[in-house]
Amino acid sequence: MNSTHPPLVTHWIDNARNPGASPRRGPLVDPATGTLTAEVALAGDAECKAAIASAAAAWPAWAATPVLTRARLMFRFKDLLERHRDEIARLITREHGKVLADAAGSLQRGIENVEFACGIADLLKGEFSAEVGTGVDTWSVREPLGVCAGITPFNFPTMVPLWMFPLAIACGNTFVLKPSDKTPSAALFMAGLLAEAGAPPGVLNVLQGDQIAAEALLHDQRVAAVSFVGSTPVAERVYREGTARGKRVQALGGAKNHLVVMPDADLDQAADALLSAAYGSAGERCMAVSVGVLVGDCADAIVAKLVERIAAIKVGAGTEPDAEMGPLVTAAHRARVLDCIASGVAEGASLVCDGRTLPLAAGPGCFVGPTLFDRVEAGMRIYREEIFGPVLSLVRVPSLAAATALVNAHEYANGVAIFTRDGGAAREFARRAAIGMVGINVPIPVPMAFHSFGGWRRSLFGDTAIYGREGVHFYTRLKTVTARWPSTRAGVDLQFPTMK
Ligand code: NAD
Repeated sequence: MNSTHPPLVTHWIDNARNPGASPRRGPLVDPATGTLTAEVALAGDAECKAAIASAAAAWPAWAATPVLTRARLMFRFKDLLERHRDEIARLITREHGKVLADAAGSLQRGIENVEFACGIADLLKGEFSAEVGTGVDTWSVREPLGVCAGITPFNFPTMVPLWMFPLAIACGNTFVLKPSDKTPSAALFMAGLLAEAGAPPGVLNVLQGDQIAAEALLHDQRVAAVSFVGSTPVAERVYREGTARGKRVQALGGAKNHLVVMPDADLDQAADALLSAAYGSAGERCMAVSVGVLVGDCADAIVAKLVERIAAIKVGAGTEPDAEMGPLVTAAHRARVLDCIASGVAEGASLVCDGRTLPLAAGPGCFVGPTLFDRVEAGMRIYREEIFGPVLSLVRVPSLAAATALVNAHEYANGVAIFTRDGGAAREFARRAAIGMVGINVPIPVPMAFHSFGGWRRSLFGDTAIYGREGVHFYTRLKTVTARWPSTRAGVDLQFPTMK
């Protein structure tokens, strides 16, 4: 790397890397070492207009492209993603910090969405009714919307974009993707692979940038629909601004996921699940478990098992072969997580394991060790707010009814899990939990690509969940045709049409 000119992560417009004319740049810092590795171009007005214009110009021909041709593009794209799996995982780890195996796992979950999009010919089949009246047939089709846009968070640089653009494009739309400016390289790499797979110029453009690029997508009349994934305050704003301009918007926000442990659960399994879901990816997952709800008399036993296991978690750079948990994404994010930990102490929660004492936490990387609070209460900041770091809070409750009431009272409602051996209790909980995604002895119930993902309350703004059949619905609109081929003249009839 030249010290005056670090490598530049560019935009992708008309199937080519494009540095743009804007002089704005963002730093890309390796979270494990704190060193500058590259810069990202931050779009200004001209780049935004160019990306949207390119997608708009490409749309008519792409919408008219036979559905099997669009499906075959997805087959080739899936193959290329699989062949470049390790390279993509390394790009994710370098910018995000998560360990390589975790990066590869999240890519795999993204590839499954491309797999789903390969079946687009079947997914777009409409409905047909013969003889809805004498000599009259009716059929319905789902047609693409035009230019769709995606605005994605830092924590899943491939999986979340892959929730969006493959399905949107397979449905016959063109797409402008604005990745997070903290983790932009994987999106650029995937755009290159889609072009290699045969996507015509303009079918997928990548606009690197920050709020300016996101707002350009929300304001431009040529953009018909916006999929957003990120924090709740921004999701709410994006939903409001986009729908006010007549766009279709789905905006997925933040989370505070609970895992309820019943006294009859296998406590070893429950402890393993709590740790994996709380500290995997250093807690930077929207489906991370950040609250353990310990029911009845299992609490002391669970705490003892957690403490023992936390001591064995290996924290290190994501590229180290034996590291299980990497650093946080940026120094600013780490500072916020440390502030949350300090607030838990100040508000009287019991700090059982303190991640601030990890030796690596004193170095230049963005490390915080696994942190465990016991006897947390609903009014405390560490319970109310999404921390998005390796901080697990334990709340003790007397009954399943109390656990359910606690879960249902939180403003976030993305995911929840229950660990129990009692089928009746699990069934009751799954029915009563007012949460979008429920796990029964499954700590992170992210639905497979052929189902759909979405929370309730302030974890999702909009009517449709993302990907799967809900995704097909979001990226298309319904047209219903009613047809008659009369052989004799019916004459003028001013009455409302009814079946004859
Ligand atoms: P963020 O809200 O800061 O940013 C998300 C995206 O929005 C980025 O591309 C960013 O550039 C853009 N953005 C920032 N400010 C904007 C504005 N004012 N208007 C429009 N766009 C703007 O989120 P983040 O820190 O990148 O990601 C972490 C958050 O994402 C967490 O809250 C996490 O729970 C959430 N998340 C949710 C899901 C889900 O499926 N519900 C999945 C992953 C992450």
